[in-house]
Amino acid sequence: MIDFHCHLDLMENPTKVVKELEAAQTYVLSVTTTPKAFPKTARLVKKDGRIRTALGYHPQLVAERPNEMPLFERMLAETRYVGEVGLDGGKEFASSKNAQAKVFGAILNLCKSHGSKIISIHSRHAAGAVLDQITEHPRCGIPVFHWFTGNRHELERALKLGCWFSVGAQMVKSAKGKAALELIPKERVLTETDAPFANKKMLTSLSTATMGLGKIWKMDEGEAYSVMKSNLANLVT
Ligand code: MN
Repeated sequence: MIDFHCHLDLMENPTKVVKELEAAQTYVLSVTTTPKAFPKTARLVKKDGRIRTALGYHPQLVAERPNEMPLFERMLAETRYVGEVGLDGGKEFASSKNAQAKVFGAILNLCKSHGSKIISIHSRHAAGAVLDQITEHPRCGIPVFHWFTGNRHELERALKLGCWFSVGAQMVKSAKGKAALELIPKERVLTETDAPFANKKMLTSLSTATMGLGKIWKMDEGEAYSVMKSNLANLVT
């Protein structure tokens, strides 16, 4: 199975979780929420195995950790994967709106100068603003919307910009999520858990998401997984 957005470093027992995921031959993108967390999180896994670690700077943490851009910049060459980054338009984070935009813009600029980055993006209540930034930073890499909840117009913009989508069990169950997934080409979809936040039982939740996608694509779970396995190969090539 594939988990293209989870927080291994925030799990109760990361070492045990890594062992379970490795035993199940799961392909994983282990995202981080601060640049400071990256080195330790990367050390949880073997280099070049099925689990890869992304360098992140979560928009919800920009207010309390405003000074980690130099660290982000120093470490960016160490990984092809960036995330969790993006914007959060929720009321609780309104006071950091400008700081979030500055950080996300700087990250997309750096991604552009490094080239060929794959970026796992948070866009809660901010899909439009995230799309504006992606539009302003062409050739920043391949944006992968994590748990996309934007409207139909925003979805069409994302598709035109070549964005990908990582999809969890909650999204395949909700009416809005299903409607979006009818419009997204299956070639641009991967599964995710967002563990430990959205789901704790990772393998069960990936199976639910894969089955849900299979239903939409009119295929069984095994066929849906095959589609996403070749998607992943295409994405990282
Ligand atoms: Mn997350």
